Amino acid sequence: TKYIFVTGGVVSGIGKGISAASIGRLLKDRGFSVFMQKFDPYLNVDPGTMSPYQHGEVFVTKDGAETDLDLGHYERFTDEELTKRASITTGKIYLKVIKKERRGDYDGQTVQVIPHVTDEIKGAITKAAKESGADVVITEIGGTVGDIESLPFIEAIRQVHSEHPKGDVAFIHTVLVPQIPGSDELKTKPTQHSYKQLMSQGIKADVIITRSDGNVDESLRRKISLFCDVPPEAVVQSEHVDLIYEVPLIFHKQKLDDYILGLLNLEAKESRHHEWKD
Ligand code: ADP
Repeated sequence: TKYIFVTGGVVSGIGKGISAASIGRLLKDRGFSVFMQKFDPYLNVDPGTMSPYQHGEVFVTKDGAETDLDLGHYERFTDEELTKRASITTGKIYLKVIKKERRGDYDGQTVQVIPHVTDEIKGAITKAAKESGADVVITEIGGTVGDIESLPFIEAIRQVHSEHPKGDVAFIHTVLVPQIPGSDELKTKPTQHSYKQLMSQGIKADVIITRSDGNVDESLRRKISLFCDVPPEAVVQSEHVDLIYEVPLIFHKQKLDDYILGLLNLEAKESRHHEWKD
């Protein structure tokens, strides 16, 4: 199994979920089976009890789990049915750890975030891989890097990377490139800071996906490439579209699928891949 982790920087709501789902779609089109998974850093055990005014729709999986609305995007984009393994919250992880502690499973050890909570998170990733049998597991980390709540998730995915051979794990970071009101200048500084924040937590992004009002042109792409230490091909723009189902097409045009297959040492199995029309 190969693993792709999608993190977000600068602000939330910039299309991290759509980007993750689009990558899932592209890999499926290249002949690989995918399983998509979302980690949510909040303490609710599941979104079933959260106000829809705050959180939007509750997506119910075929095995009856009440999950985050991003799973709806995942299923619609990848045309795969997901299970309760696809939705993990901090609340769910802690509930498990505390139950184990009460049962005496930790055999008198001091129970800590590292390794007990991070082990539980890693367990959620490996269980999803095993049960789905997918070629690629794509895990989106909710929230933005630097949040206190998401630290254990970031640490767990760092460990997954260090425990696997090179070419098995890829990190994708989605960022906002803002425009100053009154000028058309796009600013890459928040991207640089967010990249550094991720680095300080032991994770080096392999791909940067930008969202912006204006066009990220070649010079801006080179600038981001330079500051974030990735080749220019690894800087991909999620330009604004009217229909979100166009996002996989935009990524494909920028050859993101080829780039990811290269990162993960995957050879396209069969060419189910067809030329899309504009
Ligand atoms: P995040 O996971 O970063 O919080 P989502 O993936 O849920 O963000 O996307 C937030 C909103 O932005 C969604 O309503 C989605 O429809 C919209 N969106 C995402 N990417 C694009 C895009 N490239 N163009 C237009 N709308 C987009």
